[in-house]
Amino acid sequence: MSSLSKFRASISIIIVLLFSLERAQAQMPFADTHIHFNWDQKEIIDASTVVNKLRQAGVDFAVVSSTPSTLALELKQAGDDLIVPIFSPYTHELGRQDWYLDQRTVELAEAGLRQRLYHGIGEVHFMSGFRPRPDNRIFQQLMHLAVKYEVPVLIHVDSGNEQAFLDICRRYPQLNLIFAHAGGNLAARHIRTIISACNNVTIEFSARDPWRFDGLTDVTHRLLDSWRALVLEYPDRFITGTDPVWKVTRTQTWDQADDGWDYFEQLIDYHRSWIADLPLQVQLKVAFENARRLYNLPQPRQ
Ligand SMILES: [Zn+2]
Ligand SMILES: [Zn+2]
Repeated sequence: MSSLSKFRASISIIIVLLFSLERAQAQMPFADTHIHFNWDQKEIIDASTVVNKLRQAGVDFAVVSSTPSTLALELKQAGDDLIVPIFSPYTHELGRQDWYLDQRTVELAEAGLRQRLYHGIGEVHFMSGFRPRPDNRIFQQLMHLAVKYEVPVLIHVDSGNEQAFLDICRRYPQLNLIFAHAGGNLAARHIRTIISACNNVTIEFSARDPWRFDGLTDVTHRLLDSWRALVLEYPDRFITGTDPVWKVTRTQTWDQADDGWDYFEQLIDYHRSWIADLPLQVQLKVAFENARRLYNLPQPRQ
């Protein structure tokens, strides 16, 4: 074979490989377990556009938390089986500031869960400035509702160590808890402690992409060794999501609409790319199966 033919042959092999890789990635079922459709996003994007974006990206289902919580139901109307709404305790536009003082939060949660409108509770933030105590009465009542209706709870704890989350997962051993945004302040060794201490915790990797709190992957979008080792050791304990809110990276923007959905495609490509570097069985679990089990959803279409 001439060197030109050899060159052509290797080029076609590379092209075939690239196409099969792309096909494999396109076919991998994907659960986006962390999206928002908030009032300050709805100012610039409507529910049907969000649903189209999810469909075009090949998402099998997306778990949505909204402020106010009823917007998650509006997205559900537009997206049907694609959308899994969870109950946000932020029931009005500024609810994040006072939900834990308001008994009505519990009443609305119970009404929505009883009717099976919501399939989880969250996102609940424990952050400075918005931090109820973990023994807050309203939070405790919400956790008891989650146990009663057997739904998971998505919790965002901003903390320099694992203790704050351990306090919660040890307090509610019968509850399925999701630790939001691993790859941020807490290192893989902290998350390992949580995984070993609490069997009821699933770890979620949203919003720790290179554009926000970069702490999960290297420059080639490969999981850092410490995270990779942990995921391979506990492949049933990890899920991911895009969390397409953008202004988390900014300050002084309370007067501006959140344009996070403009970046959704970039975010989902990133998650698909680090997942594609894992062994195939683990890919399926992290990209889809663990979340499907957690939210008790049917097997995907064939
Ligand atoms: Zn969060
Ligand atoms: Zn979020």
